[in-house]
Amino acid sequence: MHIGTLREIKNHEYRVGLTPESARELVEHGHAVTVETGAGLGIGAADADYEAVGARIAARPEAVYGECAMIVKVKEPQAHERALLREGQVLFTYLHLAPDPVQTRELVASGAVCIAYETVSDGHGGLPLLKPMSQVAGRMAIQAGATALEKEHGGRGVLLGGVPGVLPASVTILGGGVVGFNAAQMATGLGADVTILDRNPEVLERLAIHFESRARTAFASRAAVAAAVAEADLVIGAVLVPGAAAPRLVTRAMLATMKPGAVLVDVAIDQGGCFETSHPTTHAEPTFVVDGVVHYCVANMPGAVARTSTYALNNVTLPHALRIADLGWQEALRRDPHLAQGLNVALGQVTCREVAEEHGLAW
Ligand code: NAD
Repeated sequence: MHIGTLREIKNHEYRVGLTPESARELVEHGHAVTVETGAGLGIGAADADYEAVGARIAARPEAVYGECAMIVKVKEPQAHERALLREGQVLFTYLHLAPDPVQTRELVASGAVCIAYETVSDGHGGLPLLKPMSQVAGRMAIQAGATALEKEHGGRGVLLGGVPGVLPASVTILGGGVVGFNAAQMATGLGADVTILDRNPEVLERLAIHFESRARTAFASRAAVAAAVAEADLVIGAVLVPGAAAPRLVTRAMLATMKPGAVLVDVAIDQGGCFETSHPTTHAEPTFVVDGVVHYCVANMPGAVARTSTYALNNVTLPHALRIADLGWQEALRRDPHLAQGLNVALGQVTCREVAEEHGLAW
């Protein structure tokens, strides 16, 4: 098969669909790979790095769309990219079609076969192609929080791990899923005093077994959340109710109970945020202050560490890309029902129930 990847053109997107290492795997499976010039620059991969593994460089996106049977990307295609898709061409990328009727309509009209990373499932109810980005965001949340706690950034001037003779910072993590677990790993590793709150007893049990005495766990009752937030130097918001807006666990009234210069990092901001006072921010201006409490609410945290994020994403997308290339999309999806759940649009029809229902289409 002929596979292509492009320079991402969405604002501040530095990741790339295929690393040179992934391109090499495809080439060694006997496939042709075309890469738009400059596609890898955001992760430090030059055109020459792709050429060295046998990929061809194309000067224009039109050439990549024109000659490739499968396009592997990161972000959803932008309007003029959608116009370049053609019938039967496979598009493998994040799509997030539910809130995007225009994109859905244009992908249907293109006749392309659109497989969305975010709906590919695993055998245990998880979303394995979203997971690495939650791992990145969870780990980054502690870095971002630690920086915001510095005086220079409006914080109360506290070092997360303390020093011998001075107590460490108190870190409260709301939600102990993928983001919360990874945040807890970083915070405990730095020597902070960590409490994780969740509402799922199985999650709490798993965390307690893993962290033993290095972190405390608590059921996320309103009272427990209020008490932990009041005591915290740093609060990480990492809750998720699938398919719904994030629950607002920290109200504005609670900010008055917090220490001046304490920090809230709202990782759940992409689902509306779990603090009442959150609004989305960007890497250019990541924080703002409400009632003396610093808020960090960047909606695309993994974008800041594009290289790590790209490699983490390729680790989980490449095996699927290889299978689609080796077998053709129909056979690859027939053999793997979890990959088949990624199929959102095919040959002029919406093929994902949630997307169809969201847009009022018959199912
Ligand atoms: P997850 O499903 O693995 O974990 C969510 C956890 O929240 C679960 O353990 C669940 O039991 C818990 N929870 C739900 N309601 C709760 C409540 N009321 N109180 C306490 N806990 C509650 O999800 P995840 O992968 O960790 O993602 C968490 C959030 O981070 C999502 O909104 C996700 O979209 C977001 N995210 C944001 C970025 C970013 O750049 N900002 C990047 C990746 C993920």
